[in-house]
Amino acid sequence: MTDSLPQADWPDFAPGWVWLCGAGPGDPGLLTLHALSAMRQADVIVYDALVAPEILDWAPGAEKIYAGKRGGKPSAKQRDISLHLVELAEAGKRVLRLKGGDPFVFGRGGEEAQTLVQHGIPIRIIPGISAGIGGLAYAGIPVTHRDVNQSVTFVTGHDQSGQTPSALDWQAISKASKVIVIYMGMKHIAQITAALIAAGRPADEPVAIATSATTSDQRVLETTLAGAEAAIKDSGIEPPAIICVGRAVLMRQVLDWQAGIEGIAPRNLDPLGRGRPAESA
Ligand code: SAH
Repeated sequence: MTDSLPQADWPDFAPGWVWLCGAGPGDPGLLTLHALSAMRQADVIVYDALVAPEILDWAPGAEKIYAGKRGGKPSAKQRDISLHLVELAEAGKRVLRLKGGDPFVFGRGGEEAQTLVQHGIPIRIIPGISAGIGGLAYAGIPVTHRDVNQSVTFVTGHDQSGQTPSALDWQAISKASKVIVIYMGMKHIAQITAALIAAGRPADEPVAIATSATTSDQRVLETTLAGAEAAIKDSGIEPPAIICVGRAVLMRQVLDWQAGIEGIAPRNLDPLGRGRPAESA
């Protein structure tokens, strides 16, 4: 079944195993080869809402089970999903658990894997490209840049109950991290931006919001901390959205590669104002 993949020592997907696999942020081309090899061998694929439908078409032989679950739903359902994976594995299936982005980044993959191991089910983890890195790359935003930041913080805009991001120490994050990447942040954008401003971040600090990043529906909104809530309302953009706070967002002026070189040339080629070519030390 892995015949059509490049020649390599592809791991054998044995019956009774669960492979937890990232499907990347949307663009099917961002899937890993291990993911593709898994899809070719799986008996059943349990996928979530953020997995692009085109990707599932690449596994015509596998049964597909939707385990959709978007934002803030009760955690009991998570337990049901994990136990369903256990049942399928115990029934001797090759179970591919396919999740959007990377399975271990805000995707509850760690919890599912833990339940599987607790039930004696052998697992393999296949990382994926996370929206907070790959999605922003498609928006022309590098999450690190020597002239901007030496650290980046990935946060979730939901706490465990799906309510508010109150569990986070916004003061500490604000101080420690010049670039903050927020997953699931749309619902609480007003509280999040207010918390960052209260923690001392400038009200006019650049913010980018990339929705359905890497897909053909990708949209990128450029705004500021103070303007983000209104900008979201005015634009009518919808989740899934990845939000980036910090001067890294300015790099989009020169790196919005999807606009093509013509789209970029008239804009600022030195958005960070360094006054020197990027390659000099
Ligand atoms: N495991 C995933 C994240 C799951 S949490 C990953 O590594 O990317 C779901 C959140 O991820 C969404 O609410 C959104 O904030 C972000 N996300 C996932 N795919 C996205 C996409 N294509 N565009 C923008 N944000 C995305």
